[in-house]
Amino acid sequence: MHFIDLNAQYHALKAEINANLQSVLESAQFIGGPFVGELEEKLAAFAGRKHCLTCANGTDALLAAYMALGVGPGDAVFCTDVTMVASVEPAKMLGASIVFCDIDARTYNICPNSLERQIKAVQAEGKLTPKVVVAVDIFGNPCDYDALLPICERHNLSLIEDAAQSFGASYHGRRCGSFGRIATTSFFPAKPLGCYGDGGAIFMDEDELEQLCRSLCVHGKGPGGKYDNVRVGMNSRLDAMQAAVLLPKLQALEEYELEARQTVAKRYDDAFAGKLMTPFVAEGCISAYAQYVLLARDAAQRERIIDRLDGKGIPNMVYYPTPQHALPVFRHEPHYSELYQNANDYCARTVSLPMHPYLKEQEQQLVIDTVLEALL
Ligand SMILES: *Cc1c(COP(=O)(O)O)cnc(C)c1O
Repeated sequence: MHFIDLNAQYHALKAEINANLQSVLESAQFIGGPFVGELEEKLAAFAGRKHCLTCANGTDALLAAYMALGVGPGDAVFCTDVTMVASVEPAKMLGASIVFCDIDARTYNICPNSLERQIKAVQAEGKLTPKVVVAVDIFGNPCDYDALLPICERHNLSLIEDAAQSFGASYHGRRCGSFGRIATTSFFPAKPLGCYGDGGAIFMDEDELEQLCRSLCVHGKGPGGKYDNVRVGMNSRLDAMQAAVLLPKLQALEEYELEARQTVAKRYDDAFAGKLMTPFVAEGCISAYAQYVLLARDAAQRERIIDRLDGKGIPNMVYYPTPQHALPVFRHEPHYSELYQNANDYCARTVSLPMHPYLKEQEQQLVIDTVLEALL
């Protein structure tokens, strides 16, 4: 059994993927070219955005976003405590301070009340300028944008949506990737939309922001082209082979994979209801289920579940063992008086099960039976 079965997906899409790769090989155009252009158009249309530009990975997408918004020393970037380091690592590289916020106990996304408390703490201290909120749709579950957007507006903060795990998800009929001044995603192979290497994308509606991000991703190119360098940028692009792989995968995501993820999640939900804490997806939201996360009663029960799964060779993961505020890399970031109770509790109890659109009912039953045995 696979945690995420990329091979089953390849076999389902083999004819289109092989034909596209063959055509890149024949064209010998490995950077840029028609597949990249077509993919950017289709990604923008899918997410409901005016612009999309692809880049080398999700971390670069976030770096470009932070650079485009002018994040630097003296700025405060607010982020959820349960995510992976890449959500804010680029802001840290630019010299900003990271202010982590506790999570909501049900959705595991940033808690709007904690965000508000942290913004007020920064303002009261008067040392940092509140600048950006990065909203991470964790495990594919959309953040509470109806609560977050007014907070950002009230405090004059820009929102970046980190949709690395939520491509395909939606919030009240709006797709993830459409929130904030800039949204970013990742095409790392294990994400809901993954390529066969590294890849990422940046989404926005404002024309000037698009121009700026395109410049930042091509060595700070200016109006005169790539040898008219007007700012410090990077070399970050998606290559033609990855775009060729992503096009049929995007179609599969839209046509049936998202639906299949819901079916798999529903079977787990039904099996574990009342026994373990299953994912909470708010009314009007659809999760992309990048992960299917269970919360055990406590750390000891989580260990029993993991031991049982390991004993039967069933892959499982802990996303994430450590809340961001407790990572050594962030030991100097300001916490104010936040206790991160929900994030600490979450990290001690969480375990993720195999989840992908090609998971067979029989395989899933084995996972379910094994987890339930661990509860006896
Ligand atoms: C994967 C991921 C990223 C980084 O994407 P890469 O393509 O691996 O650089 C950023 N944020 C979150 C929440 C992620 O899960």
